[in-house]
Amino acid sequence: MAIRRKLIKHKVAELIDSCAISKPPVDVSKVARSLGLEIVMAPDEVGLSGFLISDSDSGRQIIGVNQSHHINRRRFTIAHEIGHHVMGHLEGKIHVDSNTTLRVAARSSVSSKGTDPHEVEANSFAAELLMPQSLVENAMAIIERDSNLGDDQIIAAIAKQFKVSESAMSFRLANLGLG
Ligand SMILES: [Zn+2]
Repeated sequence: MAIRRKLIKHKVAELIDSCAISKPPVDVSKVARSLGLEIVMAPDEVGLSGFLISDSDSGRQIIGVNQSHHINRRRFTIAHEIGHHVMGHLEGKIHVDSNTTLRVAARSSVSSKGTDPHEVEANSFAAELLMPQSLVENAMAIIERDSNLGDDQIIAAIAKQFKVSESAMSFRLANLGLG
């Protein structure tokens, strides 16, 4: 299966628009709610980052996220699970993401090459949703104009604005040709 990058961009752009997201940090809980997805904090189980459940009996659709993870990581997990939902990846009732899957996710789409295409798509979706191109470009332009920070400090400052990890932002900037 080829990675559907154009479709991902299109779906994310629709969500950003319909949820009226105009500045960072992107409210991923709001995006989830707009899709009828509930978010539950899950206890820290071995190797678990997040999961997606669709229960046809109750009609509930639930994203579970490891409550012990750092907020930035939980945000990435939620965005990743929204990606699975929106891209139609859920085949059974439940999809589980281990820590390993999402550790790759947080690093980059480059290092996740060769893994399950659904995971690559969910990671790509999460990066697009948490760090929308136009918002990142705006933030970058403002920071570069108003400061004489070094590259690492710029990445740290923008990552903080978007509530994402510095490594996730670093790869996003590189992908956008801004890094
Ligand atoms: Zn996944």
